[in-house]
Amino acid sequence: MGNLHGGSFQAIQEYFQQKECRFCSHSFTSDGIQLLREEPGVLVVRVTCKTCGHPLGVAIVGTTPKPARPQPQHPRDWTKRDKERLVGQPPISYDDVIAAHQFFKDLDTDWHKHLPKTGRAS
Ligand SMILES: [Zn+2]
Repeated sequence: MGNLHGGSFQAIQEYFQQKECRFCSHSFTSDGIQLLREEPGVLVVRVTCKTCGHPLGVAIVGTTPKPARPQPQHPRDWTKRDKERLVGQPPISYDDVIAAHQFFKDLDTDWHKHLPKTGRAS
């Protein structure tokens, strides 16, 4: 496994760990967030609540970097870990996840064949 997208996947895990399962209200954990597939600029992840076992669904997350924006000043008392958790989150939203969930909810194990081919612009 290359380390190329490691940072992005880690950021996605961090993102979902801030979200709560809507069935049991526990936060998602990193071991419930599975990297299914990676393409240039796209990661496909499956999110499952490890507390109650209910799947949130599959999310397709774009990882293409946005043009750099000025970094906001961090509060002085933020720790290094706070910065790692809160800065540089990928440009994803719950809407993206829900859209992907609805797209995939009727698909079975062959869902991956519906993914766009590598190299086609989205
Ligand atoms: Zn749950």
